[in-house]
Amino acid sequence: MKPIIALLIPVFLLTGGLLACVGQTQQNSQVTASREPKATDSPGGRRVVKTNAEWKKILTADQYAVMREKGTERAGTSPLNRNKEKGVYACAGCRNPLFSSAAKFESGTGWPSFYEPIAKNAVHEEHDRSYGMDRVEILCSVCDAHLGHVFDDGPKPTGLRYCMNGVALSFEKK
Ligand SMILES: [Zn+2]
Repeated sequence: MKPIIALLIPVFLLTGGLLACVGQTQQNSQVTASREPKATDSPGGRRVVKTNAEWKKILTADQYAVMREKGTERAGTSPLNRNKEKGVYACAGCRNPLFSSAAKFESGTGWPSFYEPIAKNAVHEEHDRSYGMDRVEILCSVCDAHLGHVFDDGPKPTGLRYCMNGVALSFEKK
Protein backbone atom coordinates (compact mmCIF):
# COMPACT_ATOMS: atom_id res chain seq x y z
CA MET A 1 0.00 0.00 0.00
CA LYS A 2 2.64 2.51 1.00
CA PRO A 3 4.32 2.81 -2.42
CA ILE A 4 0.88 3.39 -4.03
CA ILE A 5 0.05 6.18 -1.59
CA ALA A 6 3.47 7.66 -2.17
CA LEU A 7 2.72 7.64 -5.90
CA LEU A 8 -0.80 9.06 -5.50
CA ILE A 9 0.26 12.08 -3.45
CA PRO A 10 2.35 13.66 -6.25
CA VAL A 11 -0.48 12.89 -8.70
CA PHE A 12 -2.99 14.75 -6.49
CA LEU A 13 -0.59 17.64 -6.09
CA LEU A 14 0.01 17.79 -9.83
CA THR A 15 -3.70 17.65 -10.63
CA GLY A 16 -4.45 20.35 -8.08
CA GLY A 17 -1.72 22.51 -9.56
CA LEU A 18 -3.04 22.05 -13.09
CA LEU A 19 -6.59 22.88 -12.02
CA ALA A 20 -5.35 26.01 -10.28
CA CYS A 21 -3.58 27.04 -13.51
CA VAL A 22 -6.69 26.48 -15.61
CA GLY A 23 -8.78 28.45 -13.10
CA GLN A 24 -6.29 31.29 -13.30
CA THR A 25 -6.30 31.24 -17.10
CA GLN A 26 -10.09 31.36 -17.27
CA GLN A 27 -10.18 34.22 -14.82
CA ASN A 28 -7.61 36.14 -16.84
CA SER A 29 -9.45 35.65 -20.13
CA GLN A 30 -12.66 36.94 -18.53
CA VAL A 31 -10.83 39.98 -17.26
CA THR A 32 -9.30 40.56 -20.69
CA ALA A 33 -12.72 40.26 -22.32
CA SER A 34 -14.19 42.86 -19.97
CA ARG A 35 -11.40 45.25 -20.98
CA GLU A 36 -12.21 45.18 -24.70
CA PRO A 37 -11.68 48.70 -26.00
CA LYS A 38 -14.85 50.73 -26.23
CA ALA A 39 -15.45 53.39 -28.84
CA THR A 40 -17.07 56.42 -27.26
CA ASP A 41 -17.99 59.96 -28.20
CA SER A 42 -16.30 62.92 -26.59
CA PRO A 43 -18.05 65.17 -24.03
CA GLY A 44 -20.29 67.53 -25.99
CA GLY A 45 -19.03 65.98 -29.23
CA ARG A 46 -16.00 68.29 -28.94
CA ARG A 47 -13.03 67.53 -31.23
CA VAL A 48 -9.61 69.17 -31.48
CA VAL A 49 -7.64 68.22 -34.58
CA LYS A 50 -4.21 69.69 -35.30
CA THR A 51 -1.24 68.83 -37.49
CA ASN A 52 1.93 67.52 -35.86
CA ALA A 53 3.59 70.88 -36.59
CA GLU A 54 0.78 72.68 -34.75
CA TRP A 55 1.02 70.31 -31.77
CA LYS A 56 4.79 70.87 -31.63
CA LYS A 57 4.16 74.60 -31.17
CA ILE A 58 1.71 74.04 -28.29
CA LEU A 59 3.32 71.14 -26.42
CA THR A 60 6.72 70.83 -24.77
CA ALA A 61 9.12 68.28 -26.28
CA ASP A 62 8.34 65.86 -23.43
CA GLN A 63 4.59 66.31 -23.86
CA TYR A 64 4.85 65.83 -27.63
CA ALA A 65 6.87 62.61 -27.22
CA VAL A 66 4.24 61.13 -24.88
CA MET A 67 1.00 62.56 -26.26
CA ARG A 68 1.60 62.46 -30.01
CA GLU A 69 4.25 59.71 -30.27
CA LYS A 70 2.91 57.38 -27.54
CA GLY A 71 6.00 57.65 -25.37
CA THR A 72 6.15 56.99 -21.62
CA GLU A 73 7.59 59.42 -19.11
CA ARG A 74 10.17 58.08 -16.71
CA ALA A 75 8.49 56.74 -13.54
CA GLY A 76 8.50 59.10 -10.57
CA THR A 77 9.28 62.22 -12.62
CA SER A 78 5.88 63.94 -12.60
CA PRO A 79 5.17 66.40 -9.76
CA LEU A 80 1.50 65.39 -10.13
CA ASN A 81 2.45 61.95 -8.84
CA ARG A 82 2.45 63.27 -5.27
CA ASN A 83 -0.27 65.90 -5.78
CA LYS A 84 -3.04 65.49 -3.20
CA GLU A 85 -4.92 68.74 -3.85
CA LYS A 86 -8.57 68.72 -4.85
CA GLY A 87 -9.28 69.52 -8.46
CA VAL A 88 -9.52 68.19 -11.97
CA TYR A 89 -6.84 66.64 -14.16
CA ALA A 90 -7.41 67.77 -17.75
CA CYS A 91 -5.69 66.90 -21.02
CA ALA A 92 -2.59 69.08 -21.39
CA GLY A 93 -3.28 69.37 -25.12
CA CYS A 94 -6.94 70.40 -25.27
CA ARG A 95 -8.10 70.96 -21.63
CA ASN A 96 -10.66 68.15 -21.85
CA PRO A 97 -11.41 67.23 -18.17
CA LEU A 98 -10.16 63.64 -17.68
CA PHE A 99 -9.95 62.68 -14.00
CA SER A 100 -11.16 64.01 -10.65
CA SER A 101 -8.75 64.16 -7.72
CA ALA A 102 -11.41 62.10 -5.87
CA ALA A 103 -10.53 59.07 -8.05
CA LYS A 104 -6.75 59.44 -7.60
CA PHE A 105 -4.89 56.85 -5.54
CA GLU A 106 -1.30 56.00 -4.67
CA SER A 107 -0.41 53.04 -6.86
CA GLY A 108 3.28 52.99 -6.01
CA THR A 109 4.13 52.80 -9.72
CA GLY A 110 5.60 56.27 -10.07
CA TRP A 111 2.81 57.42 -12.41
CA PRO A 112 -0.35 59.33 -11.44
CA SER A 113 -3.08 56.70 -11.06
CA PHE A 114 -6.87 56.91 -11.02
CA TYR A 115 -9.61 54.30 -10.64
CA GLU A 116 -12.04 55.96 -13.10
CA PRO A 117 -12.25 58.82 -15.60
CA ILE A 118 -14.34 61.88 -14.71
CA ALA A 119 -16.86 60.90 -17.42
CA LYS A 120 -17.21 57.67 -19.36
CA ASN A 121 -16.57 59.43 -22.67
CA ALA A 122 -13.69 61.58 -21.40
CA VAL A 123 -11.24 58.98 -22.74
CA HIS A 124 -11.04 56.48 -25.59
CA GLU A 125 -9.62 52.97 -25.32
CA GLU A 126 -7.57 51.14 -27.93
CA HIS A 127 -5.63 47.89 -28.08
CA ASP A 128 -1.91 48.43 -27.76
CA ARG A 129 0.11 45.39 -28.80
CA SER A 130 3.51 47.10 -28.79
CA TYR A 131 6.52 45.68 -26.91
CA GLY A 132 5.05 42.15 -27.03
CA MET A 133 2.29 43.09 -24.56
CA ASP A 134 -1.46 43.30 -25.00
CA ARG A 135 -2.50 46.43 -23.16
CA VAL A 136 -5.43 48.82 -23.35
CA GLU A 137 -4.26 52.27 -24.29
CA ILE A 138 -6.06 55.37 -22.98
CA LEU A 139 -6.43 58.36 -25.27
CA CYS A 140 -8.08 61.76 -24.86
CA SER A 141 -11.48 61.53 -26.56
CA VAL A 142 -11.27 65.13 -27.80
CA CYS A 143 -7.74 65.38 -29.30
CA ASP A 144 -6.69 61.68 -29.41
CA ALA A 145 -3.58 62.34 -27.32
CA HIS A 146 -1.95 59.25 -25.82
CA LEU A 147 -2.37 59.49 -22.05
CA GLY A 148 -1.37 56.07 -20.70
CA HIS A 149 -2.91 52.62 -20.15
CA VAL A 150 -5.61 51.00 -18.03
CA PHE A 151 -5.05 47.82 -16.02
CA ASP A 152 -7.28 45.50 -13.99
CA ASP A 153 -5.36 45.70 -10.71
CA GLY A 154 -6.84 48.93 -9.34
CA PRO A 155 -8.69 49.51 -6.07
CA LYS A 156 -12.43 49.53 -5.38
CA PRO A 157 -14.96 50.55 -6.53
CA THR A 158 -13.92 49.85 -10.16
CA GLY A 159 -10.87 47.58 -9.75
CA LEU A 160 -9.25 49.58 -12.55
CA ARG A 161 -5.93 51.41 -12.58
CA TYR A 162 -5.67 54.23 -15.09
CA CYS A 163 -1.89 54.60 -15.24
CA MET A 164 -1.28 58.08 -16.66
CA ASN A 165 1.69 60.06 -17.83
CA GLY A 166 1.71 63.15 -15.59
CA VAL A 167 3.19 65.22 -18.42
CA ALA A 168 -0.01 64.67 -20.43
CA LEU A 169 -2.15 66.08 -17.60
CA SER A 170 -2.89 69.65 -16.62
CA PHE A 171 -4.07 70.00 -13.02
CA GLU A 172 -6.78 72.57 -12.38
CA LYS A 173 -7.13 73.22 -8.65
CA LYS A 174 -10.65 73.65 -7.28
ZN1 LIG B 1 -6.96 66.17 -25.36
